[in-house]
Amino acid sequence: MEFAETLTLSKPDKMQFQNAVIADQFNRSHDYLRISLTDKCNLRCAYCMPPGGISLQPHSQYMTAEEILRIAKIFVSLGVKKIRLTGGEPLLRKDVNEIIASLSKLPVELAITTNGILVNEHIDTFRACGLKSVNISLDTLKKEKFKAITGKDYFDKVISNIGLLLKKNFHVKVNVVLTKGVNDDEICDFVSWACDKNVHVRFIEFMPFDGNNWNFEKNVSYNDIMHAVEEKFGPAIVKLTDGKNDTAKNYCIADYPGTFAIISSITNPFCDTCNRMRLTADGKMKNCLFSGDETDLLSAFRNGEDIVPLIRGNIMRKKALRSGIDNIDDFGKQKNRSMIAIGG
Ligand code: SAM
Ligand code: SF4
Repeated sequence: MEFAETLTLSKPDKMQFQNAVIADQFNRSHDYLRISLTDKCNLRCAYCMPPGGISLQPHSQYMTAEEILRIAKIFVSLGVKKIRLTGGEPLLRKDVNEIIASLSKLPVELAITTNGILVNEHIDTFRACGLKSVNISLDTLKKEKFKAITGKDYFDKVISNIGLLLKKNFHVKVNVVLTKGVNDDEICDFVSWACDKNVHVRFIEFMPFDGNNWNFEKNVSYNDIMHAVEEKFGPAIVKLTDGKNDTAKNYCIADYPGTFAIISSITNPFCDTCNRMRLTADGKMKNCLFSGDETDLLSAFRNGEDIVPLIRGNIMRKKALRSGIDNIDDFGKQKNRSMIAIGG
């Protein structure tokens, strides 16, 4: 792809990368950027997409493939070491293979979060571009329930694509958003499945975003999850060492290679080690999933402005904990986007 070639990093850039840091006022340094490629999706997960959908903006308001690369390159020059592509459903973008190919030339670990439906069409690009780990969202192991949660009948496709990734030796993480009364009866089934299939299952607490009808009653907490797993697996549960910036508490069942983890932003937040920044598909930077504070990088970039001060300013405004929400009762009060337009 032509523009990727012309933007290959030069040696001085690479030296500059080693010294750069995007720090906030609490001395957290931010080296992980999540880029949403689109607000569109081929599923309608109730916890993510508002019932009436979201209104899409004119095509021109979204970042082009070239803008994504150029803006990503600026973040990399400031110390970003990992980029995750997300959405909406990132694999719906027609130019996703070019985007992956161009970003894979940057000195970063490149990763993707997808609902898995289109993985078979892109797996060769993943391999060719050195993607090693793929996160797939799957909230149930039951075909009928999948349809109820997502509004679509793609269960077999997702399961088959998880199998394909495993066959081709990708590290597969499966994201399970738990909702009380919907899929909390499947916690132990998922742990057994992780053991059998050698996947890494991550249970995620249901979080509040615009239009997703969140309330705390639906939350399945860290303690609820551990209680369920302990009842079935008892002393066979082994605590694993968590990574420095890990959002998850990681476990396995003795003698099995698969693992499970809990991401509990609501009942057990991990903000003190947060290294994440987010860029929405329309080029707005967010310093926290829960923050309504957005910085319009794309407009500034298109106007030829230096976006580095905007990036640094955005991170300097980052709050210590969940965008200032330190009380469960305050969730949902801040104006924010729907999750589908943020990217997780
Ligand atoms: N379409 C892709 C997918 O589903 O993996 C990528 C985008 S999706 C917004 C990214 C992640 O956010 C998924 O793992 C999804 O389960 C998670 N997610 C969406 N809404 C959520 C919510 N309300 N609470 C917790 N996680 C959520
Ligand atoms: Fe689409 Fe992913 Fe949101 Fe489900 S979680 S509606 S697959 S973006």
